[in-house]
Amino acid sequence: MTDFQLQPLLDGNRRALAKAITLVESKLDSHREQAQEILERVLPHSGKSIRIGISGVPGVGKSTFIEAFGQHLIAEGKKVAVLAVDPSSPIAGGSILGDKTRMEDLSREENAFIRPSPSEGNLGGVAQKTRETMLLCEAAGYDVILVETVGVGQSEYQVAGMVDFFMVLMLPGGGDELQGIKKGIVELADALVINKADGDSVVLAKKARQHYNNAMNLLRHTSFWTPRVMTCSALQGNNIAEIWGMVLDYYFQSLEQGAFESKRAKQNREWMHQLVNEMLHMTLTSNVRVREMIPALEQDVSAGNTTAYIAARKIMSALSS
Ligand code: GDP
Repeated sequence: MTDFQLQPLLDGNRRALAKAITLVESKLDSHREQAQEILERVLPHSGKSIRIGISGVPGVGKSTFIEAFGQHLIAEGKKVAVLAVDPSSPIAGGSILGDKTRMEDLSREENAFIRPSPSEGNLGGVAQKTRETMLLCEAAGYDVILVETVGVGQSEYQVAGMVDFFMVLMLPGGGDELQGIKKGIVELADALVINKADGDSVVLAKKARQHYNNAMNLLRHTSFWTPRVMTCSALQGNNIAEIWGMVLDYYFQSLEQGAFESKRAKQNREWMHQLVNEMLHMTLTSNVRVREMIPALEQDVSAGNTTAYIAARKIMSALSS
């Protein structure tokens, strides 16, 4: 049993929240156990936020946008938590999103809570910790959770799989329009937001908007929602209120359609399967017999003495024997 007191966390005490997150992020088994116990207890108090994923290439203006968007939400009376899934964390110990002095004004707000990406573990592990942290933040009364990530493949899928609404920030022009579409971002995104629509870039941004709108209309959308394309200037604060309006539009429509709950339920099922895969992998790699067998089997497979399939079967039978 953990001696963690839940009430201060539920009352929104930041230190209690930070302490619980530290347990979630800890590598120690005993801390992980405590974290799971806390999570189970907070579950009835969580889930009441709007979860928004925000992605985009480095330099597109994510932190500037979150700063402006977060301030707007706070002015509307919301409590805002900003979390991150940094795909570089597992490799470099956190660098792309970085812990530089980002979102300085927002971080001074009493109703904002900013937590950098967990810095240990593989991407799946980092994403899992962020999901858990999200539940803690919701229990602590944050009504909007912003999850930031970088536009590089897997991490976008991870974040899209944990939020209600996923938006991708884009640059006006720069020839990256087609790139984004090729990468399949469009299928993940509920909105594309062309940032830096200010000064000389206003015209370019409008053109890009047209371009993306056409691309969106070509795709067949099975859901009730056709992804929207908007422009904004995070720096000047233009269209920030409208973007929040769009998210609310989505939120109310999806509630009405029953899509909100079913999406979350599906995300939870997928999360469970992802965890099972990870746990199986851990069981496998921590098994002494398996670890001892692998070098020789790798050699055999490399030399063509045995097939990958037969080697894999040997490993699996060592695990179950
Ligand atoms: P991130 O790497 O995606 O988090 O991008 P940043 O928020 O750090 O922004 C990168 C650069 O773009 C900074 O110099 C910002 O001042 C600038 N920037 C961000 N948003 C805007 C915008 O709306 N308009 C213009 N002109 N510059 C912006």
